Amino acid sequence: MTSADVTIVGGGPAGAALAVALGRQGVRVELYEKARHPRLKACGEGLLPHGVSALRDLVGLPDAPTVRGLRFRAGEESVDATFPTGHGLVVRRDRFDNWLFDHAASTPNVDARPGTRYMGTRAPILVGADGRQSMFHRGLPATPARPRRVGLSTHAIGVEGVTDRVEVFFQPDGELYLAPTGDGEVLISALFDYRHFTPDGLTRLVAAIPALRARTRRIEFTTPVLASAPLGSHVPRIIDETDRLLLVGDAAGSPDPIVGDGLALALASTQDAASAIVSGNWREYQRRRLARGAKARRLGRLMLRLSQTERRASWVLRHLSAVVPRLLDLAVGQETSHHARL
Ligand SMILES: Cc1cc2nc3c(=O)[nH]c(=O)nc-3n(C[C@H](O)[C@H](O)[C@H](O)COP(=O)(O)OP(=O)(O)OC[C@H]3O[C@@H](n4cnc5c(N)ncnc54)[C@H](O)[C@@H]3O)c2cc1C
Repeated sequence: MTSADVTIVGGGPAGAALAVALGRQGVRVELYEKARHPRLKACGEGLLPHGVSALRDLVGLPDAPTVRGLRFRAGEESVDATFPTGHGLVVRRDRFDNWLFDHAASTPNVDARPGTRYMGTRAPILVGADGRQSMFHRGLPATPARPRRVGLSTHAIGVEGVTDRVEVFFQPDGELYLAPTGDGEVLISALFDYRHFTPDGLTRLVAAIPALRARTRRIEFTTPVLASAPLGSHVPRIIDETDRLLLVGDAAGSPDPIVGDGLALALASTQDAASAIVSGNWREYQRRRLARGAKARRLGRLMLRLSQTERRASWVLRHLSAVVPRLLDLAVGQETSHHARL
């Protein structure tokens, strides 16, 4: 036992945000993070408006580029979907996770331990915030999402025509995402079915998109290409009242990143997790978090089905253009916008 009330394992966005929320309420927290921030992480780096709003309420907003929506592209087709209220942020994960961890470390009652792997000594309450491959899935098992997918991400300068919309290209091999990370730099991320994955998949995808070839003639990569797999998981039970263990963030289940909702889901559930710990009503947290996760997973399955091949995605954008922005409505709970054929 330690003198803390709560041990949080993992100082990524979910663990750091929860440490802030608890520390402010006088709960003594020890926060273990095995890495030292800033560190890069494979991610699409988009924070949806409901995540922005939760973050604003918790600690305020970082200095990061804002985006007002998405541009879905398949073949010749293009559909814009706009967040009618609020905006998204593109949060380069090395900077963002470092910024949030610093907030946690400077919150009263939080004992932050960067560069320290959790080895087992614990406070009366234990929180698993250690991501998709959580060590706590031994007791609260996780099922990997289907189809099995791989994600890659990197950053580059010299990509032309990037605007304040996240661009999503549906290709035969997978999806490619472009988003501005500031100072002319761009996030490039790709998601593949295992069967279509190759280590050079991301650059192959960029080269395969005619509209991008012209825009990337002067491209220079600024960070290494990082990979992550498998993507997405379902965790049907995220509390263990006997062992006083509760899971948050990706450890509590994550949708396929096609939904762009992992970070927002973690941040929007932070206050629920903190209230559960303070009040002792853990089941309410579990109910609300599982409901949010199920909605994101359903949306992910639908988006994967609609985008499975470039031909199908192109058909959807051409014939169901009114529906595509509605998918975004479902994701962020807001109204959207407008169709353009290239
Ligand atoms: C390719 C890809 C694209 C994505 N795109 C998006 C997107 O555009 N938008 C979005 O919202 N989400 C996206 N996601 C999902 C997003 O990355 C996750 O939802 C988010 O990282 C979850 O935060 P977390 O704090 O729960 O977990 P993590 O960010 O994984 O943090 C967990 C932390 O725990 C630490 N840790 C692990 N084990 C231990 C231990 N034993 N002791 C101490 N520390 C430990 C790790 O070092 C890590 O820092 C994407 C994911 C991938 C893979």
